[in-house]
Amino acid sequence: MVGATSCFECCPDATKVSRFRFSLPPSVMRSLFINPVVHVRQAHRTRRAAIAAIAAFGAILAGVFLMSAVHDAALSAVLGTVALACLGAVIGPFTGGNEAEWIRYLETLVRTERDRLLAILNTMGEGVAIIGPDYKIRFMNPSMLREFGDGVGSYCYKHLHGFDEPCDEMCRLREVIIGSTERSEYHFPDGRIYEVVSSPFADSDQVSCMLATFRNITHQKLVELELVKLNQLKSELLSNVSHELRSPLTSIKGIISSLLQEDIGWDNESRKMLLIGMSEETDRLASLVTNLLNMSKLDAGVWGPERDRCSVPEIVTETLERQKWVSKDHIFETEFAPDLPEVFADSNQIKQVLINLLENAVAYSEEGTKIVVEAKRINNEVEVTVSDQGVGIPPGELEKIFDKFYRGTQKRRRPGGTGLGLAIGRAIVLTHGGRIWAESEIGRGSTFHFTLPAI
Ligand code: ADP
Repeated sequence: MVGATSCFECCPDATKVSRFRFSLPPSVMRSLFINPVVHVRQAHRTRRAAIAAIAAFGAILAGVFLMSAVHDAALSAVLGTVALACLGAVIGPFTGGNEAEWIRYLETLVRTERDRLLAILNTMGEGVAIIGPDYKIRFMNPSMLREFGDGVGSYCYKHLHGFDEPCDEMCRLREVIIGSTERSEYHFPDGRIYEVVSSPFADSDQVSCMLATFRNITHQKLVELELVKLNQLKSELLSNVSHELRSPLTSIKGIISSLLQEDIGWDNESRKMLLIGMSEETDRLASLVTNLLNMSKLDAGVWGPERDRCSVPEIVTETLERQKWVSKDHIFETEFAPDLPEVFADSNQIKQVLINLLENAVAYSEEGTKIVVEAKRINNEVEVTVSDQGVGIPPGELEKIFDKFYRGTQKRRRPGGTGLGLAIGRAIVLTHGGRIWAESEIGRGSTFHFTLPAI
């Protein structure tokens, strides 16, 4: 019989799997092994009973026949005994619970179940390892071998974690061996994260071991982290946007209240100053709302470019006309290469990229400094650059500034900003098949470049 710990020896060609036997939990044991065995036993018993009944019937018939045919009582008894012995010899092998057949049957049963378990272990996406009380790895299924390499026979703390000795804070082997089931999360130095469930397990040699399943949850964890980050960004954005909306509104409200005060006799110059201030605050509001709307349209994929043949100098000039008026304290200059080809682009979207770059140039550089917009042909592209003489961008931030909601450490000269301007610019340029990047020197200024495919 298979014994209390039913075990299997694995097939010879199955790498490490073949070295160990398995003891199954009682419920599995019952359904996989004991139930079929009990049923088969019943079947054998039924068969034996039937054969014995037939034999008894035959013996009685033979007895009746002999007693009626042979009148000598002694001879009749001898013949009856001989007949019964012959009958017994013939049916004996069928009733006697053929042990060899029985053992063969059990072996087949065990082998089938073992093959089934092996197939399950081999195809499991999760890694399975059996670790002995001496911390040595006794078994690894193929998935475990794939993820961690062959470590059968080595110490688990060495092979899995690269430690020289067991780490009591991390390792649950002692608790598990005495019967507890533990769930832990292992973060490996290469960035992989595993959820490990360890349960007690009696190996085929009856040694109490730990059966651990390793589930790679790195991707899941990264998604969770991203979601947490996104939620943080959302709440930051919400508080940022509320602040950004409130401050121009407060200024506008203040200016209107001042203008409405009848007891103050505003002269024309002061009234004009106040109205200009109001107009600037309104522009700030409009730019913020535009950026928010554009970002959500880009996110929803409903702001595809409506391309046409466009002239870059025209787009730049029109944008600057507006910008010069908004920031009259900077010196704006343009420089266009003479051989500039046209581009196939959505002029409104490209204007939005320029507005965002120019607003930043104004916000991060002192009044009276130069802001230069250039356009030149480079191979099959038109490259547009916006340079300022402002505070500059630390090298570590040059990549990040194009991320949604990222706001750098440099102080804006003007209040405002949501960290969306460059992200929108990048999204627009990329949908046009171009590239965008920045160069900067702290204290000397920044240059933003973007390209558009030339016609
Ligand atoms: P914001 O609304 O904060 O300006 P942007 O997406 O337009 O958001 O810019 C992201 C960050 O890039 C800014 O917070 C700032 O740190 C940096 N930045 C952008 N343009 C300039 C510039 N011309 N000079 C210095 N820093 C800049």
